[in-house]
Amino acid sequence: MSLSEITARMTKAAENAGRSVDDICLIAVSKVQPNERVAALLDAGHRIFGENKVQEAAGKWPDFRSKYDGIELHLIGPLQTNKARQAMELAQAIHTLDRPKLAKTIARLSQDMGSCPDLFIQVNTGEEPQKSGALPAEADAFIAEARALDLPVQGLMCIPPVDEEPSLHFALLAKIAERNGLAGLSMGMSGDFESAIALGATHIRVGSAIFGARVYE
Ligand SMILES: *Cc1c(COP(=O)(O)O)cnc(C)c1O
Repeated sequence: MSLSEITARMTKAAENAGRSVDDICLIAVSKVQPNERVAALLDAGHRIFGENKVQEAAGKWPDFRSKYDGIELHLIGPLQTNKARQAMELAQAIHTLDRPKLAKTIARLSQDMGSCPDLFIQVNTGEEPQKSGALPAEADAFIAEARALDLPVQGLMCIPPVDEEPSLHFALLAKIAERNGLAGLSMGMSGDFESAIALGATHIRVGSAIFGARVYE
């Protein structure tokens, strides 16, 4: 689907929800995609991208940055503490702050580096054992803990279980964000970004709908 088709769908979903599309950031998830497809989107003027692996991001984005101005990179995959520094050097936002140890590491590194990317706390809304993220019942305490470390927490992020109605998870995430006074909501992917927008998403993470299916080797 072309970028303009996605934008048109975003605009319609925003209008239906009485919102402005300008308040919704489209993160083009470029993980695994061939560089030609990413370059095509850059040539079309898009600048906000998402990657889920630090290693992969480090392998391709410095080169794109040398050719295109104003690139904003969002890390949307699980982050090991030993890769936190590299992630913070590469990304303008990290959507997967999910545990106290990582929060403490990022806080220490941001003192050291004098800056910190925007942070989203991942909430495991489906309470799935294989998924990272704070459990809904622990989210308030973890948000408070991250704030006490002076971390720039902008909002919350979730990845709904594949076999459940995503809007229930979007609504839960929105509720936790609201009671904690957080404005950012990173939710919605290729298959469900319109319902995420209806429920208040400020950042949607769209991969295959923009780039086509990912081909894993
Ligand atoms: C891959 C990925 C996406 C994009 O998924 P699509 O279904 O291709 O849009 C969004 N969020 C996260 C966390 C991802 O890992």
